[in-house]
Amino acid sequence: MTIPFFDGHNDTLLRLLEDARPDKVALFRDGLAEAHIDLPRARAAGMAGGFFAMFPPPVKTSLSDVAASPANAKGELPPRLDLADAQRSTNAMAAILFRLERAGTLAVCRSAADIRAAMAAERLAAIFHIEGAEAIDTDFDGFEVLYAAGLRSLGITWSRANAFGTGVPFRHPADPDIGPGLTDAGKELVRLCDARGVMIDLSHLNAAGFRDVAAISTRPLVATHSNVHAICPTTRNLVDWQLAAIRESGGVVGLNFAALFLRPDGANDADTPIEVMVRHIDALVEALGEDGVALGSDFDGATMPAEIRDVGGVPKLLQALLDKGYGQALVRKIALGNWLGLVERVIG
Ligand code: ZN
Repeated sequence: MTIPFFDGHNDTLLRLLEDARPDKVALFRDGLAEAHIDLPRARAAGMAGGFFAMFPPPVKTSLSDVAASPANAKGELPPRLDLADAQRSTNAMAAILFRLERAGTLAVCRSAADIRAAMAAERLAAIFHIEGAEAIDTDFDGFEVLYAAGLRSLGITWSRANAFGTGVPFRHPADPDIGPGLTDAGKELVRLCDARGVMIDLSHLNAAGFRDVAAISTRPLVATHSNVHAICPTTRNLVDWQLAAIRESGGVVGLNFAALFLRPDGANDADTPIEVMVRHIDALVEALGEDGVALGSDFDGATMPAEIRDVGGVPKLLQALLDKGYGQALVRKIALGNWLGLVERVIG
C-alpha cells in the first residue's frame, strides 16, 4: 500500500531550467532519469505534491561563482545576486511551472483546498515557493506580481545576503548565529507575508533573522528543509532554541534528505543509511511533537543517501518509520497530514 506524501522542498524547476533540452514539459512528463523528481516516478512513489522552489542561481560568470554549491563552499557567503538576474531566472522557472500546469502534469495550488482538489483529481499539487527573495524589490512591486501569479511560500534568504536579510554560510561544525538580522525591508516583508498568507520559510536564514521573524510574525514558524543541529552540527540545521520556538508557534520542520545535513560528520557522502534519517525524525518528534514533523527532501538540489536515490525512495523511509514502531497514523501525518494542516493554518 502506497502512503501519499507531500514534500516541503524540491529544486526540480531549477533542474529543468538548467537542462539544455528545450522541451521542459516533455522532460518532466515523460521522465528525466538524471533528475530526482519527474512525473512518472513521483506518481509511482505516492507523491501528492510539494513546495516547488524557485531558487535564483548564481550567475555563472566565474569559477568561484559556480563553486557556490554547499560541497564547494569555503564557509563564506556566496556573492549577492542582482535584482534583474534574479527576476530573469525566477520568471523562467515560473514559466516552466505554469507550462507544466497547462500541460496537465501538475496543479499550482494556492490553498489547502486546492491541494485536496488536486489530489482528488490525481494531479500533482505544487505550491509556488521562492528560495531567497532576490527577485523582489524593496518597493514590493515584485511581491505583488509574484503573489498574483501564485506565490504562497517564501524563504527570505538562501545562504547569502540580500536586501531583506542574511542567510547562513555553509559551515560544519558551526552554530547558525552568524551575521546580522533582518533589514527594515526584511521586517516589512515579514508583515506583508503575514497579511497575505504567504508562508515564511526559515530554512536558510541565520539566527538573528530567525529571531526577527519569530518576534514579528504571528504565524506558525516553518523550516521546510532543515534537520537537527544536535545530530549534525551544520549552520543549516536547527539548534534547540529554534526548535522550541517552532514548537511554541505550532510550526513545522521538514526533514532534509541531503547527506551533508544528515550525517554527524557533515560529509557530502551518499553512503548514508536511512537509519540516520530516522534518528533525525525521532529527535524532531521529540522536540516538536507529532504535529510538527514533515518531509522536505531537497530533491534535485543535493546529494541524496544512496538508499533513497530519488523520489522513488521515499516509501523506503516511510517503511523504516513503520519498522521502527511508528504507527500508521503518525507516519501518515509526517508524510502528508502535517504539511496539509500547516498550509491550512498559514496560507488558507
Ligand atoms: Zn535550500
